[in-house]
Parts: sequence; C-alpha cells; structure tokens
Amino acid sequence: MYIVQIASECAPAIKAGGLGDVVYGLSQELEQRGHCVELVLPMYDNMRYDHIWGLHEAYRDLWVPWYGGAIHTSIFCGWVHGRLCFFVQPHSADNLFDRGLYYGAPDDWKRFAFFSKAALEFLQQTNKRPDIIHCHDWQTGLVPVLLYEIYKWHGMEYQRVCYTIHNFAHQGVTSAEVLRATGLNNDEYYFAPDRLADNQYPGALNLMKGGIVYANYVNTVSPHHAWEARFSEVGCGLQPTLDTHHYKFGGILNGVDCEFWNPETDRHLLHPYHIATFEHKAKNKFALRERLLLAENQDKPLVCYIGRLDRQKGVHLVHHAIYYSLQRQAQFVLLGSATEAGIHQWFSHEKSHLNENPDCHLELGFNEELAHLIYAGADIIVVPSNYEPCGLTQTIGLRYGTVPVVRGVGGLLNTIFDYDYDEAHLPQERNGFVFYQTDAIALESALGRALDLWFTDREAFTDLAIAGMKYDYSWKTPGSQYEGVYEHIRHK
Ligand code: ADP
Repeated sequence: MYIVQIASECAPAIKAGGLGDVVYGLSQELEQRGHCVELVLPMYDNMRYDHIWGLHEAYRDLWVPWYGGAIHTSIFCGWVHGRLCFFVQPHSADNLFDRGLYYGAPDDWKRFAFFSKAALEFLQQTNKRPDIIHCHDWQTGLVPVLLYEIYKWHGMEYQRVCYTIHNFAHQGVTSAEVLRATGLNNDEYYFAPDRLADNQYPGALNLMKGGIVYANYVNTVSPHHAWEARFSEVGCGLQPTLDTHHYKFGGILNGVDCEFWNPETDRHLLHPYHIATFEHKAKNKFALRERLLLAENQDKPLVCYIGRLDRQKGVHLVHHAIYYSLQRQAQFVLLGSATEAGIHQWFSHEKSHLNENPDCHLELGFNEELAHLIYAGADIIVVPSNYEPCGLTQTIGLRYGTVPVVRGVGGLLNTIFDYDYDEAHLPQERNGFVFYQTDAIALESALGRALDLWFTDREAFTDLAIAGMKYDYSWKTPGSQYEGVYEHIRHK
C-alpha cells in the first residue's frame, strides 16, 4: 500500500512528546512490512535539522488557496533517519512555522489549518494518490474534512483516512474563521451538531470532532483509553461523537522503537547491557550519579520521572514521589519540561533547594541524551498520570530494566501488570507496580512496595526488572493492526 502520514511531529527531528515517536516508529514498521510510506510535516524553524539528511527544495511553486487568495508555498524534501519526509514552508507574512516553537502560539488553529490544507494541495497537485492518508491529533483533524468536502471533487475520490487521537485534551476548538480560511464556506452546514459544531461551546467549531466525523477509521492509542474516552470525562466532551461513530472507533496500543530504545546498542550509553549482562546496568547508575553530582551509595535505589510537567501527568504526585523517595532513603532524578508558567515556577523553586541535596536532582528542560542515561541508570520509574492515552516512558523503562510504578489508567493499564496483585497474569509475567487513586497515599502504596522489594529482596527485584525487559512492546503487533485497519478501509 501507498501510505502518507500527515502529522505535526516526527521524532527525532520534530518531537514535543510521544506523537513524534509514534509517527516515526509506525512509519518505519510499515516500510519494513513492504509498504511505501511518505510523511508530510510542517517546516518549523526550530526543528532538529541535524536529524534530517539531504534536505532540498523539491517543489517551488505550490499555491495553497487561503481565504480569497493563495499562499505561495515551497515543499522541501529530506530523510529523517531513513523516512522520506516532505516539509511545508509557506511564504506568508504570518511566518506560520517560524516561531521558535511547535505549539502554543495564539493562532495555532490557523497554523495547522493551513498545514492541513497545504498537505492535501501538495498531494493533489503533484498527483500523489496514496491508498491511505493517516493523520494525527487536532492539528490535522481538518484533513478528512477537506478531503471529503473539497479534494474528493478534484481527483482524490479513492483516498481513505485513518485518524489517530493521541490526546483528547487538545481538540482545536476555534471559530468560523477557519471555514473562511480553508474554503469550507458554508457556516450553517459545518456548524451542524453531527459535523464540526463543538459539543460544549455554542458557536465554536471543533477540528478534532471534524476528524472523527469524516475519517474512515478513528483510533486512540490504547484499548483502555478508547473505552475511557467513550464512556468517561476523559473524552473531554467528545463522548457522544465517539458513541455515534463507535463502529469505526478503536484503540491500538503504541509500540516502542526498539532500535532507538535499546540498552544494548544505545549510542548515548557508555555501558551497554542486555538481559544476559544486566549487571552492567549498575555502571550506568554510577555514570548518572557522576553526571548529576549525586552521592554514590550502593545501598540506595534510584527513582526517576521523565516526561512533561503537566496536570495530565499528575504533577502533584510527581512532586510527592520526590519527597517520599528521599524520606525512604532512595535517590530521585527528574527530567521534565513544563508548559504552564505556574508549574514551571513551582518546580524551579523545588530545584533551587533540592539540587543541594546529594540524593536528588531536578533537570528542567528537554534533553534526549540525558533521558537515555536516566532510563538506563534508574531502578524505578514513576508514571502517576491523571490520564494517559498510552504513555511511552513506562514501556521504555521496561526496555531498560527500570521497574515502572504507574497509575492504572489508559495505556498504563494495558502495559503494566502489578507484581503483587495482577491476577490476569502469571507471577513471571508481572512487570511493575500499579495504584489507582489520585492521592499521595495511593502513590505511596505502590512506590513503597517497589522500594520494599529493592531493599529486602534484591534478587526478586532484579528478576522483575528482567521480566520487564522480555516484554515485546515493539511496533510489530501495532504495525500489523494498523495494516489490518488500512486494508479494511481502503476497500470501502
Ligand atoms: P506525552 O504525553 O508527552 O506524549 P509519552 O509518555 O507518550 O508522553 O511520551 C513521552 C516521550 O517524550 C518519551 O519518549 C520521553 O522519553 C520523552 N520525553 C518527555 N519529556 C522529556 C524531556 N524533558 N527530555 C527528554 N525526553 C523527554
């Protein structure tokens, strides 16, 4: 099959979180299965150009219809670690992608509506006719809308769309202006409740809802989160829409890129290891301590958190985990970046006094290389999310023999099985510790059990870490599931 992914991220060139990892990992897996895969991405000024090979201008004169006129746009072409990517660069006074950021501009709706329109215009004008267009999150929710309302009438009637939702919390809720910008000039038609009208805010349009209504298949990134989104407030108001379209809605668990996240070949590690050489993991713990100026003490376990510092991630519990770990004579390392100023200030304040402590280090910011060393050097990783569509840090933790302590929501529930209590899995299949409530005592109940095991029975703790390393959370299974979805919708 010929598959085009239209997305706002592709790791490692453009990565704000798990979406980037998924777009890259899935594309690679689909290619390995013999499909032809191309990606269309925005050309941000702040992307990691050092991860793009052979970047050159491939199409110079693409005119993308926009409001009553058109925007002169160039398409650049390059390879992100082997994946063929086309980058959209508009030449407009708005400087849509020259903002030094991926997301968070006040006119994000305009930036990504333009991107969606330009991506389709590019396919249409260059005679690219993929079997499947796979788009992701609110940023590209307009793609199926535009395809079926406009581009279908311009030679694209056979293209089918798979739409993957990575986070229901951001839906692209905006005004009727987006219709005028993109040429969908019919307010009454699109404001209908069964099309793009937002389910909660009268007078607003919802781009993610448009993606759900118009796509041929819709999924979120784990089976449990699909259930939560449809039946609980985790759907952030889209529950009735998912219910109406339940026949084409499901959950496919994300994979992990097992080449990139491999402690045996990880180029960021001075001391590679695998199951048979698990004892070398301790050398990475030593290196991590040395790098972050932590005390070397073989009698202390090292607990870590890696991820965005965001309400979604349960920041109050992350904060509690730091103090609880220190109180339990463990060390703690945090690597995270906050988008909300209040959360950033909170953790900056914590950092200013905790970094004096030889058992604690908080690193605020995004640092890929340090993330690898932490995954390798830590004994335990905490993921206390409020909600978690899939979550990658717990499965990456498993790959590196770092035992996850997670809250039992979304994809965390589909990937981590409690050491003491999971009755659905045999003892040797259990791989971490799970808690359910959102309070500090719940976190302590699980993190406390993990620390108890480390302190009292190191052999059992190591066996648990090794059991986690044996799990296959690669892209193989999800790759074949997406392939099945594509096969199903392309014949419709
Ligand atoms: P998200 O909700 O952000 O998508 P995921 O768990 O799905 O969360 O994916 C997070 C990805 O981003 C993982 O690959 C993780 O290692 C990486 N990551 C998150 N925060 C940081 C950071 N501050 N520095 C480096 N990598 C990070």
